[in-house]
Amino acid sequence: MGKRGILRASLLAIAVMGGARVSAENAQPVKLEVDLRDAPRRIFHSRMEFSVQPGPLTLVYPKWIPGEHAPNGPIVDLTGLHFRGNGREIPWRRDDVDLFAFHCDVPPGVTAMEASLDLLLPKEERSGGTASTSAQLAVLPWNLVVLYPAGAHSDEVMFSASIRLPAGWKFATALERAPGSPAEDGARFQTVSLTRLVDSPLLSGAFFKSYDLSPGQIPEHRLNIAADSPIATTLTSEELLHLRQLVAETGVLFGARHYRHYDFLLALTDYLAPNGLEHHESSDNRAPEKLLLDPDAMETLMDLLPHEFFHSWNGKYRRPAGLATSNYQEPMKGDLLWVYEGLTQYYGVMLAARSGFWTPEQLREYLAATAATLNDWPGRTWRDLEDTAISSQILYGARQAGQSWRRSVDYYDEGTLVWLEADTIIRRESKGQKSLDDFCRRFHGSEDGAVKVVPYTYADVVAAMNEVTPYDWGNFFADRLHAHGPGAPLGGIENSGWKLSFSDEMNDHQRAEEDTNGQIDLSFSLGFTVELPGGDGGNAIVDVIPGSPAATAGIAPGMRLVAVNGRKWSSDWLRVAIRAAKDSKEPIELLLENDDFIRSFRVDYHGGERYPHLESTHGADVLGQIARRRAPEVAK
Ligand SMILES: [Zn+2]
Repeated sequence: MGKRGILRASLLAIAVMGGARVSAENAQPVKLEVDLRDAPRRIFHSRMEFSVQPGPLTLVYPKWIPGEHAPNGPIVDLTGLHFRGNGREIPWRRDDVDLFAFHCDVPPGVTAMEASLDLLLPKEERSGGTASTSAQLAVLPWNLVVLYPAGAHSDEVMFSASIRLPAGWKFATALERAPGSPAEDGARFQTVSLTRLVDSPLLSGAFFKSYDLSPGQIPEHRLNIAADSPIATTLTSEELLHLRQLVAETGVLFGARHYRHYDFLLALTDYLAPNGLEHHESSDNRAPEKLLLDPDAMETLMDLLPHEFFHSWNGKYRRPAGLATSNYQEPMKGDLLWVYEGLTQYYGVMLAARSGFWTPEQLREYLAATAATLNDWPGRTWRDLEDTAISSQILYGARQAGQSWRRSVDYYDEGTLVWLEADTIIRRESKGQKSLDDFCRRFHGSEDGAVKVVPYTYADVVAAMNEVTPYDWGNFFADRLHAHGPGAPLGGIENSGWKLSFSDEMNDHQRAEEDTNGQIDLSFSLGFTVELPGGDGGNAIVDVIPGSPAATAGIAPGMRLVAVNGRKWSSDWLRVAIRAAKDSKEPIELLLENDDFIRSFRVDYHGGERYPHLESTHGADVLGQIARRRAPEVAK
C-alpha cells in the first residue's frame, strides 16, 4: 500500500471507532501558543485550541520521538492538563493501558476545545527526563508541548504555532514567520503539518549569535548559537571556514539538498547533555559552554555538526521503512539503524576531515580508539550488530557499567568500520573509479529541494550498492550484521593502508576525551575505565572488560578506587604503577571500596601502558584519499 493509502486507512479507522471527532482533513489548524517565559524556571506552558464536534474524543501526547528511535516522550512531566469548552472544564480520563492517551467527551454545543498543559523540565539529564533549558537558553522540541487526535497521521494535522519568549531573548527555527508576526519577544509561524512542526525545533536564548554558512547562495545555511555567556557564542574565522567548507562538501557529495534552507541550532551550556538531534531543515545540537573556546572539547565533538547535517539526507529524506511511521504513537523498528546511524557516523567523521576540522592524524587516532574499543569488547560473542540496532530503544538509556559485555549502540561506531570497509571495496573493485560517495549521490541525491520522506528496505540498500559496483553485498552486510567475532570488522582499516597497533604513547583522541569527560580509559592495559576523583561519580570504576587483568583480579564496575600500591590514587600515580610493573614480577595492588567495605585487589599485569594507534602498512593511503577535501576550497 502506498503512503497515501495508509493515511486514508488510519483516518477511516478513527471514524469507524467513533473515537475522535477531530477530522484532520476538514478541521481548522490547531492553534498552539507556547510560553517560554518561565523557561529559566524549567517550565514550558502550552495552550492549544482544537476545532471539535460533540462526542468522545481522544488526544494523545507524542511517545515515539523521531531521531531518538525510542518511546521517550516525557509523559511523566506532562502536568497541569485541562480541557475546556465554552468556558467550562471538560473532564478527561487517562487510558488505562496507553498512558499517553487522554479520553474526554465533548459536550453538545462545543466546537472549539482548549487544551492546556505545563511541561516540567529537569535541571540536568542525569536526574531523569529531558533537559531542555538553562537559566539563559531554551531548546523547544515542539513534541514536548503538543497533543493531537489519536490515530491521525502527523502529515495531516495542521498547527498554527506561536511563541512567547523571555524579554530580550532571540531565537532561530526552520519554521517561517507568519505575516504580521511580532518582531520581538515572540513570533507567530506559518501553518504547518504536525510532522513539520515537530521536525522544526526552536532555539532561544539571552546570548545569541547567527552566522551565514553559505553567503550569497541559495539555499541559505545558518549556524545559530545560544550560549550561557556572550563569549561562548564567538566562532573563530577558522571554524567559520570549516563550516562553510562542510556545506560545500555536502553539495559535491550528494548533488541535491532536501530543504528550503538549513539552520544549525547550537546550544552551548553545561546544563544539557551533549547531544544532537537531526531534522530535515535544521538540527538541535547541544554541547558544553566552552566548546568553541577549548580545543579538547572541539576535538571530541568535531563530528557533531557534520553528523547531524548528513542526517538531513540519510535519516530524514531517506529513512528505513520501520522508522517512517505515520505518527508519534506508532512503534518504530530500528533494525536498519546501522544504515541510518552507521553510515551517518562514518560520513560525519569523514566530512569533519574533508572540511578541515580534523587533520588526517586526528582522524586516524579517532579511528584507532574506536576500532580498538569495539575489537576489545566481548559482547559480540552473544549479541550481533543487528541486535544492537533492534534494541536501540533500550540501549540508548543503558548504563556505562557493563557495556563491554552488554554492548552499546554499536551500530554507530561499528557502522563506521563496516561502511569504511564497503567504501574500500568499491574503490578496489572499480579500480578507483567509484566510491561510497557514488552510493550517497544515487541513494540520497536527486529531487533537489524536496522536503519529504522516501522510505527504504534492506533490499533497496543492497540493490543500490550493486548498482554502484557489482559485488556480493548481500553476504557482505549479512556477515557483518550477524558475526560473533572474535574481534571487530577491521577489514576497512586494513584495506585502506593501515593496521591497529598499540604503544605506550597516549592516543590523542582518548587524551582529549579524558580531559573532557573526566574518565581515564585503561581498557587496553589493566582493562577498566575509571572516573577521576571529584564530581558525583568520582573514583568509580565505570566498566571492566570481562577477561581483562582487572576482571581476573575480581574488580567490578561500581567499586570505587581508593589507592594504588598503598598510595592515594590519581591518574598520574596509576600510570606510574602500570609502568613500574612492566619491569617487575610484583602485581599492582589496588585498594577499592565496594559499598561500605574496603579490600585490596592484586592485578597481575606487566604489559605496560597500551594505547591504540593506526600504523601504516606501506600500501596506498586510501584512508587519506577518502578524507581529502573534494569541493573547491571556500574563499576566506
Ligand atoms: Zn545520528
